[in-house]
Amino acid sequence: MEQTLVIFKPCTIQRGLFGQITDRFERKGLLLAGIKMLWLTDSILDDHYSHLKDKPFFGRIKASMEISPVIVMCWEGIEAVSVVRNLVGPTNGREAQSGTIRGDFSMSVQENIIHASDSLESAAIELKRFFEPHELFKYEMLLLSNLYASDEIV
Ligand code: UDP
Ligand code: MG
Repeated sequence: MEQTLVIFKPCTIQRGLFGQITDRFERKGLLLAGIKMLWLTDSILDDHYSHLKDKPFFGRIKASMEISPVIVMCWEGIEAVSVVRNLVGPTNGREAQSGTIRGDFSMSVQENIIHASDSLESAAIELKRFFEPHELFKYEMLLLSNLYASDEIV
């Protein structure tokens, strides 16, 4: 099973979309392995968005992520990294297809509802950034045989 990191951005908390967005992950059949609320800081964001540090809008993105607290989650499932990225949709909410989270809830490139890890490697790094090992819970999804074929479960 893969695990991936999702961050509900301040825009999502402010707009009261926590329940509706969480529902997307639950109904897909992903398992919630960890969740917490925290306030992001410049130093966490310098690491988390280091691939954007030379962009002119880097300061603006960081400021938007520090407006209010965020909620971070670890979702688990087979191929969870790509499954979650597909649920989320492309960066620009205006271009994201209807049916995706960004396509249904965002009109913006920046205010685009959630962050999701883009590869298995970044998921591992990002999960370590936000969760201590004891904050990620190992438990069985009792409906596993309703969600996957026996040869899909590893
Ligand atoms: N972002 C932005 N303008 C851009 C590119 C990115 O404001 O031209 C913001 C946006 O909030 C995005 C985040 O920076 O979600 C991280 O960018 P990335 O390219 O990693 O996009 P993502 O993986 O979130 O789709
Ligand atoms: Mg990214």
